[in-house]
Amino acid sequence: MNTATGQLYIVSAPSGAGKSSLLQALRAHLPGVDVAVSHTTRQPRPGEQDGVHYHFTTVKAFQQQIAADAFLEYAQVFDNFYGTSKQAVNGVLAAGHDVILEIDWQGAQLVRQRAPDAVSIFILPPSVAALQERLQGRGQDSEAIIQRRMRDAQSDMAHYPEYDYLIINDDFETAVAELGSIFRSQRLQRERQTQRHAALLDALVTS
Ligand code: GDP
Ligand code: ADP
Ligand code: 5GP
Repeated sequence: MNTATGQLYIVSAPSGAGKSSLLQALRAHLPGVDVAVSHTTRQPRPGEQDGVHYHFTTVKAFQQQIAADAFLEYAQVFDNFYGTSKQAVNGVLAAGHDVILEIDWQGAQLVRQRAPDAVSIFILPPSVAALQERLQGRGQDSEAIIQRRMRDAQSDMAHYPEYDYLIINDDFETAVAELGSIFRSQRLQRERQTQRHAALLDALVTS
């Protein structure tokens, strides 16, 4: 088979652990990887753009998409719905790009059932205090929302054993490098190298 298909990655973390910043930094160093844009019913934060950070939508429109079977996965996180549309993933994978799903542990469980080959990564903060400082330092959520997220963090983090890889985001640059090494080693697996270098392997091994 000649068609190169991208690899699906799942990245989860408690809110504020640094997942979005790490993935943004990773993508600057690593071509050929896209983050799927999710749908959400939460309000945009200052600076968030529709279609870039999320597809911002209403509960009614979200429910219509559920009924139309448009989602690869969806979940209720905090008090909002979040979901990955099939459309957000399939086109990118077919084009041979890797796709990162930045989703919670509930969505991760659903994606693993549908795509057992997905590689999953969990990002943890170096301490509970650091998590709270980051949520406060980000300065984009109200104190009530931050408290809600801190309350959920403990139960979110209890799901780390379900993931293939763990990253502790203490020093930012170290964590970006560690994340990069996961993607690079996945890309070097024999099966994927065989697809990528089919002609070379043919020339080297046959004749
Ligand atoms: P942040 O993680 O603090 O930046 O806050 P967000 O409001 O952007 O995300 C809240 C939670 O929803 C996080 O745990 C995300 O991983 C999760 N989430 C975002 N998009 C999706 C999605 O498409 N599906 C699922 N299941 N979870 C999502
Ligand atoms: P998430 O997407 O997981 O909710 P963010 O990427 O928005 O988290 O990060 C939350 C805050 O923590 C941001 O203000 C970010 O700049 C900061 N941050 C991320 N990683 C680190 C780190 N290693 N050290 C200190 N601050 C960090
Ligand atoms: P934001 O604060 O908007 O989420 O992140 C913007 C960019 O700042 C990220 O892409 C990332 O490269 C960088 N960044 C965020 N947090 C840190 C940090 O703690 N250390 C360093 N060196 N860079 C960071």
